[in-house]
Amino acid sequence: MTTKKALITGLTGQDGSYLAELLLAKGYEVFGLVRRSSTSNLERIHHLSGTVQIVSGDLLDQSSLMDVISECQPDEIYNLASQSYIPLSWTQPSLTAEYTALGVSRLLESIRRCKPDAKFYQASSSEVFGQPDESPQTELTAFRPRNPYGVAKAYAHWMTVNYRQKYNLYACCGITYTHESPRRGTEFVFRKITQAVAQIKLGLANELKLGNLDARRDWFYAQDAVYAMWLMLQQDRPDDYIIASGETHSVKELVECAFEYVGLNWQDYVSIDPAFYRPDEPIQLIGCIDKISSQLGWQPQYSFEKLVKLIVDYDLKKLL
Ligand code: NAP
Repeated sequence: MTTKKALITGLTGQDGSYLAELLLAKGYEVFGLVRRSSTSNLERIHHLSGTVQIVSGDLLDQSSLMDVISECQPDEIYNLASQSYIPLSWTQPSLTAEYTALGVSRLLESIRRCKPDAKFYQASSSEVFGQPDESPQTELTAFRPRNPYGVAKAYAHWMTVNYRQKYNLYACCGITYTHESPRRGTEFVFRKITQAVAQIKLGLANELKLGNLDARRDWFYAQDAVYAMWLMLQQDRPDDYIIASGETHSVKELVECAFEYVGLNWQDYVSIDPAFYRPDEPIQLIGCIDKISSQLGWQPQYSFEKLVKLIVDYDLKKLL
């Protein structure tokens, strides 16, 4: 049996690092597209050095994508690269569109020209639904994005669907809800909370400022997310799927769970700062996972409580 080859864009990000681990464990030859930076950004994949082949390229540069695909000849391509931070998409909307929207056009066009039989996964986002008119959302729910990141992801989503229909590519989108892990950036609220709880527990901080405690999210574990991505490319036909936990929890529940786990009372440390209110809070973004569970047999393996404890443990250990 020949070894399958996979190319991952966004290798240095949260999902890229977990997906690389999964594919290596399954015996794939793994290539990771990394853009140049003046300082090393390989922290999340340090432990994979020597096992993943790093190739240089950028979603902003069509010829680099064509070169990489021609040279690697991947059987599967996972596009996880994007400008993924919503607040930044308001201050840098054009750059967000270049990475997150047009970058996907460049990649699809490169696949069409250089390796049209490669299977392609596009990281879509629940932010395409923005303020949805139904809850939970399904694969058929209308897109009403409410920030430049969501608009860019909606463009990328429909380009992927269009390339599938027009050129018969095996191209599919995973509409993923918020997923977390010890490798999540601390600018995102989940890690902001778990890191602060660890600092407070160890006497390194005494306050945690948050915005809207009633905001609810459909949170799940990044390792569950990347397994769903891989499953989507193992089918006979390409299709789009919601990838989510199918339940929501409030920021307050997250805070309570994390503080309780380390034996502290959250009300002694948490204060509300209106500066942290997200201006356009999505209401009830919750994914319906009926399609992916019935057709692919996928279910998240980690509960919300287990995930909170896993990440708090990591943040505590990191500070010790
Ligand atoms: P992440 O940690 O922010 O990683 C983003 C990756 O994209 C990084 O490796 C980054 O490289 C790379 N990148 C950015 N611009 C690039 C460019 N011009 N060329 C090449 N690479 C570039 O994101 P993540 O959490 O792993 O998410 C993976 C994907 O899923 C993203 O597309 C995200 O939008 C989407 N998504 C994530 C979530 C979530 O909850 N995590 C939910 C829905 C959808 P550098 O290291 O060089 O910056």
